[in-house]
Amino acid sequence: MSRVYDIVGKVGDEQAFRQEIRDWLAEKIPAGWRARWQGVREEELKAEIVAWLEERRKVGLATPHWPREWGGPGLPFAYQIMVYEEFARADAPELDMYTISLFHTPATLFEHGTQEQKDKYLSGITQGTDIWCQGFSEPGAGSDLAALRTSARREGDHYVVNGQKIWSSSSMHARYCLLLARTDPNGKRKHDGISYFIMDMHSPGVEVRPIPQITGESEFAEIFLDDVKIPVANLIGAEGNGWNIAQSTLSTERGLLIFGAVERLAHSFGLDGREAKDTWMRDVQHRREYAALYAELQSIRLMIRQLLIELEANPDKASPTLPTYIKLTWGPFLQRYTEFLLRAEGLEALKWQPSIPGTGHSSRLRMNDFLKSYGWTIAGGSNEIMRNIVSERILGMPRG
Ligand SMILES: Cc1cc2nc3c(=O)[nH]c(=O)nc-3n(C[C@H](O)[C@H](O)[C@H](O)COP(=O)(O)OP(=O)(O)OC[C@H]3O[C@@H](n4cnc5c(N)ncnc54)[C@H](O)[C@@H]3O)c2cc1C
Repeated sequence: MSRVYDIVGKVGDEQAFRQEIRDWLAEKIPAGWRARWQGVREEELKAEIVAWLEERRKVGLATPHWPREWGGPGLPFAYQIMVYEEFARADAPELDMYTISLFHTPATLFEHGTQEQKDKYLSGITQGTDIWCQGFSEPGAGSDLAALRTSARREGDHYVVNGQKIWSSSSMHARYCLLLARTDPNGKRKHDGISYFIMDMHSPGVEVRPIPQITGESEFAEIFLDDVKIPVANLIGAEGNGWNIAQSTLSTERGLLIFGAVERLAHSFGLDGREAKDTWMRDVQHRREYAALYAELQSIRLMIRQLLIELEANPDKASPTLPTYIKLTWGPFLQRYTEFLLRAEGLEALKWQPSIPGTGHSSRLRMNDFLKSYGWTIAGGSNEIMRNIVSERILGMPRG
């Protein structure tokens, strides 16, 4: 019979907490998931991910960062960090498709949602029934998001929405969308007059067209909106305050999300080196490059830990400095490391293979990881925009 785990009950004793997670992970990680999930059909994958989410939910680890009030375990921040470390170390699968649902949606609703919205939408996330997507970017409004043109016109007890969104991750699987649309085209600044909505993706007039990527697969899609009706009850916050609310949504990309990704890579980085001891590690030039990359990886890990310390001390007032530098270094590092592996491992590494969901940027399929690494220098603000932030906000240089 399966052991009963009390992971959350061990808060207060770090060693016992870690040990309980390790034991639980050893028993519960879906057996052989990397091999089974590779290239699997969408419905099967979704069933696997929902089952894994449910296992995590039973011990309070579906949403380690959620407060008790909303069905989370209310873990102190230091313990949340431990959860991510242990999951990375054990190579536990990530909850692909659920990133927006587990991070961006609650960050938005906890702070700005009405009681009714929280009651209605949060339980569908923890139960895995509802996948959410984020409909912010548009053709012509990516880096310059405030230039968005999708319009929402109030008609009685609903808004009528028209426009187009693009690059919306997992939107082809989504039930709901965090949508930004312009309710007032005559605002003083372009940031004014933007409102924030919960859009039911099953509404008439919503059309989702997946975008094929260089890997041949599609992680995101375009969303076309043609006279889509959104009830007024689905407005988050006040009409016209969408820009400020969107900052809460985007701030979730700063902390634990990137920490998890980097810890996962650190784990596979170690494996890569050990497994190569009789092949490319025997080459002195490769060893030098690997060591230099290791030093770089460690410096990124240290920056992220420092960011987590800052966030723990003052969640609302972290400076833009560390998140910006982390973003600027992590994407290019990933590109250089995955390119190094392609070179070091030779022809065998070049072949295309179906992706393995749940592995983030550490699928260890060399070509896939290399191609995917480029997304990091674009998503959530491109590195050119990050450099603008460094020059203008951190170094105080004049605006270009
Ligand atoms: C993997 C991935 C997932 C994504 N998921 C989502 C999602 O779920 N929902 C969503 O809404 N969006 C999503 N996006 C979109 C992402 O936020 C945008 O791609 C990003 O903001 C850049 O916008 P853009 O693609 O329109 O490029 P543009 O803004 O058109 O920029 C094109 C190029 O010009 C440069 N550039 C633009 N303005 C300046 C400037 N002022 N100074 C210097 N250089 C400049 C940019 O750096 C870039 O190289 C995702 C993107 C990726 C890659």
